[in-house]
Amino acid sequence: MSINLYGGAGKLPCGVGPLFMRILLIEDESKVAQFVERGLTAERYAVDIARDGATGLQLATTYHYDLVILDLMLPQMPGQEVLRHIRTTDTQVPVLVLTARDEIMDKVATFESGADDYLTKPFAFAELLVRTKALLRRGPVNRASCIRVGDLQLDRLTQQVKRGNKRIELTSKEYALLEYLMVNAGRVLSRNMIIEHVWDQSFDGFTNVVDVYVRHLRSKVDDEFSDKLIKTVRGVGYMIREESAG
Ligand code: CA
Repeated sequence: MSINLYGGAGKLPCGVGPLFMRILLIEDESKVAQFVERGLTAERYAVDIARDGATGLQLATTYHYDLVILDLMLPQMPGQEVLRHIRTTDTQVPVLVLTARDEIMDKVATFESGADDYLTKPFAFAELLVRTKALLRRGPVNRASCIRVGDLQLDRLTQQVKRGNKRIELTSKEYALLEYLMVNAGRVLSRNMIIEHVWDQSFDGFTNVVDVYVRHLRSKVDDEFSDKLIKTVRGVGYMIREESAG
């Protein structure tokens, strides 16, 4: 069986295990697997490797991992299916997908089945490391399909938004902005954080585009209701919170 279970951890100094982040790498190409494992182990991550989809899924659902790095083209079970199964049992673990260039069309489907980021092969290790660190820093994510703040409800599967019984129609940007606010309900989000999450990284406009979109969103979500959910935090940004939540 081609599992290197706890192989990475074995190389670490004793007594410091719990401080280390554990990563599961599901990759059948041994060259890629070795290169990634060597790099991540040198960065002091504990790395387990599975060389086929079924083994990967078994490990992912048996042990706790802080991150799963998942190749899409895998023997025994394709990456997409591994991802779908992981999401039905563990909705929290971040998943970084590795894809070949000609699988671009699969990316949409991959994100819909719950990937957090992807990297196109071939990639430089430095790039993988940057993304790995970003996902580990962000940590587990609330992936509940239905999110509520007060009487406002957002269903991530159908992308429907309702306030009370009233259906609210949003553009895709408004939806993305509302989803980001609601996933982080009660937290203040700066304009820059919002730009980074809702617009892509190549965005180089002005952060006041956020104010414009928040205005649109408020006109649909808050204006005709007495309890205003979207709050302005002066000089910082925005937050969504139920009034009675304090
Ligand atoms: Ca492969």
